[in-house]
Amino acid sequence: MAQTTPNHTQTVSGWAAQDTSGHISPYTFKRRENGDTDVTIDILYCGVCHTDLHQAKNDWGITMYPIVPGHEITGIIRKVGKKVEGFKVGDRAGIGCLAASCLDCEFCRSSQENYCDKMQFTYNGVFWDGSITYGGYSNVIVSDYRYVVHVPENLPMDAAAPLLCAGITVFTPLKDHNLIESPRKKIGVVGLGGLGHVAVKFGKAFGHHVTVISTSPSKEKEARERLGADDFIVSTNPTHMQAGRRTLDFILNTVSAGHSLGPILGLLKVNGTMVIVGAPGSLLELPAFSLIFGKSTVKGGIIGGMKETQEMMDLCGKHNITCDIEVVKPDNINKAFQRLAANDVKYRFVIDIAGSRSSL
Ligand SMILES: [Zn+2]
Ligand SMILES: [Zn+2]
Repeated sequence: MAQTTPNHTQTVSGWAAQDTSGHISPYTFKRRENGDTDVTIDILYCGVCHTDLHQAKNDWGITMYPIVPGHEITGIIRKVGKKVEGFKVGDRAGIGCLAASCLDCEFCRSSQENYCDKMQFTYNGVFWDGSITYGGYSNVIVSDYRYVVHVPENLPMDAAAPLLCAGITVFTPLKDHNLIESPRKKIGVVGLGGLGHVAVKFGKAFGHHVTVISTSPSKEKEARERLGADDFIVSTNPTHMQAGRRTLDFILNTVSAGHSLGPILGLLKVNGTMVIVGAPGSLLELPAFSLIFGKSTVKGGIIGGMKETQEMMDLCGKHNITCDIEVVKPDNINKAFQRLAANDVKYRFVIDIAGSRSSL
């Protein structure tokens, strides 16, 4: 579809999956010419999110092939449209999950574009001109400036890339619950993967006592020593779970496999809140007794709005927070997918799109 759109004049080299095998191979396509409100960005790095793997294989039944995944993008602005505000050629820029929204509804007007009914994603979405969106597994991207953020000068472009999805996903619940500016709360992070490890870093940077809750005892050393977690609960260990009963003010649940929320709710203090940001393919079990005896709240959230995304990037710059990454070359994306499917990564793969270990 995109190839036949008249103003799609910029030729781009990328990497796409063509079918449900999810196998990624080189793919050349066209992007739109830089419009008045667009910026064109030379991509340096793109993180590999679990969503990319699901979409490449059509696990959710909504994939439009060929699909160019990638929504954790950092790069340098090369072109700026005449109505663009706040960006100039040469700026360090980041693009996350959002490519478009209506710009006019209550959510767009309150900088919660991520809840706009007409919101479109950076890849496998449909842009305003009717073309299918292609993501960051490519050397150039064109984006409306309202969905672009600045990347602070002190952050490395590779390790900053996953902040655009993993980072904002865990940042917004903390902000929504007033946990950015009010330290010394007891926070639990369930699951220590791409999302969880950033959540631990945020929790510590914002002055909280952070407990990691995991099924893997082998992750304790890493959680405490490298990420700075204060406590570690093995969720399959009844002694640990009993000792942790009613100790936490807030829990961020990042697990992407089906599980029962009941035992974890037992760790919350009365009136505590658990926010679900993982996306299991199967149902989560939520026993009513766990809710009513603890007066607990369970809620969800998806990424964050653009204003929050910039705020998060700026705070990451201030506190020097980045993701722990393993950089791979584009010809190793398939291997990275296999290892990601086996949870064999600490904690995020990032594709070196520009082909060099840039120090930008
Ligand atoms: Zn993602
Ligand atoms: Zn809207």
